[in-house]
Amino acid sequence: MAGESPALMPVEQALEALLRQAEAAPIEDVESVSIDDADGRILAEPVIATLNLPPWPNSAMDGYAVREADLVGQPLRVCQKIFAGTQPAPLEPGCCARIFTGAPMPEGADSVEMQENVEVLADGRVRFVEPVRRGQHVRPLGGEAQVGDEVLAAGVRLGPIELGLAASLGVARLKVTRKLRVALLSTGDELVDPGETLQPGQIYNSNRVLLHHWLQRLGCEVVDVGIVPDDHARVRQCLAGMHQADLMLSTGGVSVGEADFLGQVLREEGQLTLWKLAIKPGKPLTCGHYRGVPVIGLPGNPASTLVTFGLLARPYLLRRMGARQVEPLSVEVPAGFNWTKPGKRREYLRARLESGRVELYANQSSSILRSAAWADGLVEVREHSLVKEGDPVRFIAFAQLLG
Ligand code: AMP
Ligand code: MG
Repeated sequence: MAGESPALMPVEQALEALLRQAEAAPIEDVESVSIDDADGRILAEPVIATLNLPPWPNSAMDGYAVREADLVGQPLRVCQKIFAGTQPAPLEPGCCARIFTGAPMPEGADSVEMQENVEVLADGRVRFVEPVRRGQHVRPLGGEAQVGDEVLAAGVRLGPIELGLAASLGVARLKVTRKLRVALLSTGDELVDPGETLQPGQIYNSNRVLLHHWLQRLGCEVVDVGIVPDDHARVRQCLAGMHQADLMLSTGGVSVGEADFLGQVLREEGQLTLWKLAIKPGKPLTCGHYRGVPVIGLPGNPASTLVTFGLLARPYLLRRMGARQVEPLSVEVPAGFNWTKPGKRREYLRARLESGRVELYANQSSSILRSAAWADGLVEVREHSLVKEGDPVRFIAFAQLLG
């Protein structure tokens, strides 16, 4: 390989360019889906509360509901028993009510005392042992949300928590952006799919499976084109057949070798918009358009595919579907390693958290996917920097990237 040119594009700049492209080509179709099918989808319209949550004041405890002012006259009679799911009668003056968690407060009661602090006398009346603070253990009407509140904003990615919240407001269907249709191509004459017998010189296609599952998790519809041979005409023909896709995502064929046709075809007949990043692994990431359809060409080495898809393609496709938060959350963790040779490219190393420190997989070759299976995430080592054991380094958990 030739030496690294100073014109490599920094990762932030590439991400920014990709996000701008995504924003220029948003998926505008909106569909209504059941909350049972909405996991991973991106909300196209906000969820506005149409009821107060809770819809009535209710008890936060198993205990006794009381009007605090009545306590001067205790012990008090217990006039009613209120279970969750029932409609209580108003509280008679000078009485209290047995009440259970989640049960509506009877009209007239303003406080709840937990049963542990109440003594039941032989005649059935009860004595409140501790002082009662007015309003205690009562969940007020609308305490969580009030009619008209925007509870979930457009652009939120729906997961179990958001869907649970929507359900608590009685929402059964949600307006989400249509799934991004991604045509997935694996380029390489050497590739065969698992299940077939390897001939000399061949390897199994791992990127297809990695990306297929990952794309599905991200709420995309995958059109799996399969293996595309390293042949100019075939690559061209493949791209030309994909005009109904929202994105063509390919692996391999983007370095400067003689059999790297994706870049060539884009250069000749399309547009090449990004080329050569200051990232390791993943330098030859290629982006562009072919007859109006965006193309992202990921490098073929599996760890390069992983890093470039996770850090660049993933935010791009989430943003196209309207997601606001597209970058993974990261944390700073003390390094459990020394990094003694500063690089010109930003490195993303497969790493694992061990006893509060981040340790590297010994072999960081971009051809090795096993490193990522061992790891919990990626550690970032910035350009031109050294790391000493104990220095804080940025760590991005795979859990942040894969979902
Ligand atoms: P390329 O980007 O086509 O030059 O490929 C770089 C390296 O990644 C080569 O060693 C390829 O054999 C390997 N590779 C390319 N595509 C795949 C794939 N789909 N699965 C596994 N390895 C691949
Ligand atoms: Mg190749």
